[in-house]
Amino acid sequence: MHKKSKIELFPVFTVELPGDPLESNIPRQVTRACYSMVLPKGMSSPKLIALSAVLADELGLDPDYCVSPQFADIMTGTTLAPGSRPYAMCYGGHQFGHWAGQLGDGRAINLGEYFAGNLQVTLQLKGAGPTPYSRGADGFAVLRSSIREFLCSEAMHHLGVPTTRALSLCLTGEQVVRDMLYDGNPAPEKGAIVCRVSPSFIRFGNFEILASRGDTENLRKLADYTIRHHYGHLENRNDRYLAFFAEVADRTNKLMVDWQRVGFVHGVMNTDNMSILGLTIDYGPYGWLDSYDPDWTPNTTDLPGRRYRFGQQPLIAQWNLFKLANALFPLTGNEEKLMQIIENFRLDFTGRYTEMMKSKIGLCLDDERDENLIFLLEQLLKSRETDMTIFFRLLSDVRPDMTAEAMLAVLGPSFYEEDESPDFLRQYNTWASVYLERLRSEKVSPAERKKMMDRINPKYVLRNYMAQMAIDASERGDQSVLNELYNLLRNPYSEQPEMEKWFALRPDWARQKVGCSMLSCSS
Ligand code: AMP
Ligand code: MG
Repeated sequence: MHKKSKIELFPVFTVELPGDPLESNIPRQVTRACYSMVLPKGMSSPKLIALSAVLADELGLDPDYCVSPQFADIMTGTTLAPGSRPYAMCYGGHQFGHWAGQLGDGRAINLGEYFAGNLQVTLQLKGAGPTPYSRGADGFAVLRSSIREFLCSEAMHHLGVPTTRALSLCLTGEQVVRDMLYDGNPAPEKGAIVCRVSPSFIRFGNFEILASRGDTENLRKLADYTIRHHYGHLENRNDRYLAFFAEVADRTNKLMVDWQRVGFVHGVMNTDNMSILGLTIDYGPYGWLDSYDPDWTPNTTDLPGRRYRFGQQPLIAQWNLFKLANALFPLTGNEEKLMQIIENFRLDFTGRYTEMMKSKIGLCLDDERDENLIFLLEQLLKSRETDMTIFFRLLSDVRPDMTAEAMLAVLGPSFYEEDESPDFLRQYNTWASVYLERLRSEKVSPAERKKMMDRINPKYVLRNYMAQMAIDASERGDQSVLNELYNLLRNPYSEQPEMEKWFALRPDWARQKVGCSMLSCSS
C-alpha cells in the first residue's frame, strides 16, 4: 500500500447523528443531541515523544511523515487535518454504582473518521482542551497518565485483548496543575496528549443519557447508527436491538475472560468507561496483578469498597450490562429476553473462564476434576504470595514425568515469599498430584504443550512499576524507557533474551510506591 504523508478525515458521526445546536464552549447540559462541536485549544510547542509504529503502519501512514512537525501539530490539535470537524460526545454513566447524570467527553475531542483500506476509525485526542462536558475541569491531561494510556493500549493490543489503540504521545509544551494524591498539594506537571484510535468510542453511557431523558427518538438513532457501522450483520433483523444487546454482552463477556487471563485490573469500570464494542477503554488508574490477589484494586478511590477489584470484574460487567439493558428497553420492549441475556452472562463466563484457565495450565482434554483443579490452583496462588505472570509462564516448563518436588523447583522464581508454610505445602501437594496426573493423561507432547501455553501466558506485561519507570525517566526528558517498553510489549509472548530483566518479580521498592501500587484518578 502506498504510504500517506497526510491525514485526511471525514465527518461520519457528526453527519449521521443529531448535534448540539449551540457552538459555544461553555459547560452545559446538552439535550436531544449525541455530541457538541468543539475546537481543540491548540498547544504552544507540540513534540512527539512516542509513536506506535505498528498502528501508524496499519493506518497506512508514512513513517517519515509521523516524525514531522506537521504530524505533531495535528496530534495535539494545534492544526486541524483536512476534513476534520472536531466534536465531543455526550454521554452519562453510573459511577461506583450510582447514576451520575451527564458526563461526556470532558477532555477528549474527536477529530473525525479516518479510512484506510477496509478500516474505518475515529481519531480522538485526549487532553486537547476543555469541552462543553468539562464540568469545571480543565480538559487537559498530564504526562504520567498519558504514558500509561499509550503503553497499555498498545500492550493490550499485542496481548490479543480487544482495546482502543494509541497512535501517538506528544508533549504539549504547557503545564497542567494536578493534586496527584488529592491531599491538598497541587503542583504543575507536564501536559501531554495521546491520540486514541478506535472504530468507535461509543460507550454504554451514550445510550444511558438519552434513555434517562426519555429521548427515545435519538436513542433509536444512536442504536441504528451503532448497528449500521459496527454490527452491520444485524441490520436487517427484526429483533436487531435484542440481537445487538446480546452481542455487546457476548463481547463484554469475552473481554472479561481476557482481562482475567492476563491479570489486568481496569480500576474504574463505570458504565461511561464500557465500550459498546467490547473494547478496553479509558486507561486511568488501572493496574496489573503482580502477586495473584483477586481482592486487589489499583485505584485508591476504590479502596473503601473494592468494587472494581480483580476478582469482581466479571460481576461488575454484568451489572453494567443490566444498566445498558435498561437504557435499550424502550427500543426492544422485551424485558424477559433482555433479562435472559443478562442471566446467561454468568454461565457463559464460567464456561469460558474454565476453558481459559485450562489452557493456561496446558490441559486440552475434558475431565470432571478440572473445575476443582482450577479452584485449588486459585487457592494455592493466594496462600503464598505468587507472581501471576511468572507462575503461568514457568508452568509450561513442567513435564508430566516430573515429581511434585521438581515442579515446585521449576516454579520457584514466581514466589515472593521465601518460606513454604505447612499450609502452603499441604495445598501444593494436593494440587500437584492431581495436576501431574492430568498432564500424564493428555495426548499432546510436552513440547507442543509448551508452545500452546506460551501463546496465551504472556512473558512480558506492563507491570505497574515498569510504567512508573518510563514516567520517571520521561519527566526528566529521557524517553528511552518509554520506547524500550513500547518495543518490548510488541511481542509479549516471545522470548526476548536481551529483555530478561523485565521478566522478574516486582522489585521491593515498588511495593508501596505511588504509581506502582496505588493510583488515584487524578490525571
Ligand atoms: P474518567 O474517570 O477518566 O473516566 O472520567 C470521568 C469523566 O470526567 C469523563 O466525563 C471525563 O471526560 C471527565 N474528566 C476527567 N478528567 C477531566 C479533565 N481533566 N477535564 C475535563 N473533564 C475531565
Ligand atoms: Mg472515562
